Amino acid sequence: MASPRVLIPIPVQDSEQRRFSLGKNYVNNLVAVGGMPVLLPTTASALDDWQALYASVDGVMLTGGGDVDPSLFGEVAHPATYGVDRQRDEMEMTLARWALRDDKPLFAICRGIQVMNVALGGSLIQDLPTQWANALPHSGSQHGLPRHEAAHSVTIEPGTRLAQILGTHQAQVNSFHHQAINRLAEGLRVVARADDGVIEAVESPNKRYYLGVQWHPEDMAPERADMMRLFGEFVAACRA
Ligand code: MN
Repeated sequence: MASPRVLIPIPVQDSEQRRFSLGKNYVNNLVAVGGMPVLLPTTASALDDWQALYASVDGVMLTGGGDVDPSLFGEVAHPATYGVDRQRDEMEMTLARWALRDDKPLFAICRGIQVMNVALGGSLIQDLPTQWANALPHSGSQHGLPRHEAAHSVTIEPGTRLAQILGTHQAQVNSFHHQAINRLAEGLRVVARADDGVIEAVESPNKRYYLGVQWHPEDMAPERADMMRLFGEFVAACRA
């Protein structure tokens, strides 16, 4: 049987806007658990073409990157908001809506969880350090830790898909974000929070796999078997 195909939008992401860029650990972990990544440039503007591509794949992965355009949730940009890519926002938000509608597995990481929430009608805290009282250091520039290292713990809601996959109600996670979910979109459930109350994971109940995490499991796996299982269970859902 052919490997499940997973669509991953790949954005223009370098400072000079000359290259497409995607962290290789997203791809490597997918491959390690038997998935076949299908990379879609976010500059592909012919909706009919990438709609057809979406229809042909078994799952969608949304990855990290710059901030979502705050006008998409009705706000003006905070001074710390950076890296807005409206074309990427629109493609990824469309994929998030379609995947929910079609019950096609979707795994959303870091920026991905934020895209998912905005796509479904929610909003974001644009800058945790200045807008969230007593926020833990969630961004790399604040804590200075390497990519694979845990920065804080998260408390996971019992009885959720996330708790089932990780096999625990408390996990140590890395953290490279300055934004987070504010108003939760309808249809999503908060399934993990940091000790400062920041939302760290959401899922849509009763779907095959519709899960977003605010941390970067791809940079903790494969050494962290629990993080690897997020990829394994995702690809298993794509196969089902
Ligand atoms: Mn965090």
